[in-house]
Amino acid sequence: MTQPSARTQSPEPRLATLAIHGGQAPEPHTGSIMPPIFQTSTYVQPGLDQGWPWEYARVQNPTREALERNVASLERASHGIAFASGMAAIDCVARLLSAGDHVVCEENTYGGTTRLATQVLNRAGLSFSFVDSRDPQRIRDALQPNTRLVLLETPTNPMMRLCDLRAAADATRDAGVLLCVDNTFATPVNQRPHETGADIVMHSTTKYLNGHSDIIGGVLTVRDPDLNERLRFLRKSTGAVPGPMDCWLCLRGTKTLHVRMREHNANGLAMARFLEAHPAVEEVHYPGLPSHPQHELAARQMTGFSGMVSVTLPTEDAVRRLVEGTRIFALAESLGGVESLISVPALMTHASVPRERREEMGVSGRVVRLSVGIEDPQDLLEDLDRALGRGPGW
Ligand SMILES: *Cc1c(COP(=O)(O)O)cnc(C)c1O
Repeated sequence: MTQPSARTQSPEPRLATLAIHGGQAPEPHTGSIMPPIFQTSTYVQPGLDQGWPWEYARVQNPTREALERNVASLERASHGIAFASGMAAIDCVARLLSAGDHVVCEENTYGGTTRLATQVLNRAGLSFSFVDSRDPQRIRDALQPNTRLVLLETPTNPMMRLCDLRAAADATRDAGVLLCVDNTFATPVNQRPHETGADIVMHSTTKYLNGHSDIIGGVLTVRDPDLNERLRFLRKSTGAVPGPMDCWLCLRGTKTLHVRMREHNANGLAMARFLEAHPAVEEVHYPGLPSHPQHELAARQMTGFSGMVSVTLPTEDAVRRLVEGTRIFALAESLGGVESLISVPALMTHASVPRERREEMGVSGRVVRLSVGIEDPQDLLEDLDRALGRGPGW
């Protein structure tokens, strides 16, 4: 094969270009610049034995495939596989395993992931070890001869702990174990785990990728064609596919991902700095602050720190006053939308995690989680300040 000359070789497009164009060519019949919503269950075949690529919409859908190519390009992967929810995506990864297999999982992971592991997948014969992956040696120590998967999340929800992704990939590669990273909090704008050796990257597209709080969805990305085939086979067999309208909405969302994340990163950092200096706040958990115990790692493996900020307050009463007192920050689960949300993980997203396990991880009733949106940061600061009980009333 001859090498293209430097002049004709087109450079790999950068993230902002990929967000808008990745995986999406104009529709060939009309030139429609937007991928159409192929709202259909089946496709008319031109005849028997003609190898028509479109059979049935659980298996193929062009709108869904545009989203899959788009997210794969952002994660620097070669394949994307979209799901009806983030949980369906994680469940599909677990179905790569068989009864008797073992999984090592970050202990401070999303509450729904813990519930799936300890109340559903355990009954199918999978066993789990939950570890504090801030120390990658704990991942190595937890590996057993029957370990097939390491499931990580970094930064974690809601304590913003980090795992060194390169060290984790070294540990799993040495052991021949799959590494799956939930990249929902960071997004491919801030962190791309395939580049440090992750086999599977997972997103709840419900959050930042869609970014407008109007769908539930999930996606996996992989670089290995064989892994792609196995995951597609599982999805075809179990059926948790997203509808074409939701895929189209998510594609509209990813077009502005880089712009939104710039604002989320800036507003998240502004809130974290403000809260750190606030007398009513005991502790701020945000990887972008130099006071974060893993700030050096954060600066090494992330290029921004997103809009997710957690704070510990002195009392549960103070928590109630804050979350019921804000006027812009809305009391709600979920995250990653353009609007700011506030929640109490111990009572909301992490209510299904047993109390002792929650407390061990620091997720007490005194922790408040903010999903900082892209409103004017001054308005957001004033909203928090007022609800924390220092500023003037409206
Ligand atoms: C929301 C979320 C999930 C689950 O995704 P759904 O789309 O709600 O099913 C998994 N991981 C993280 C980090 C999440 O925030």
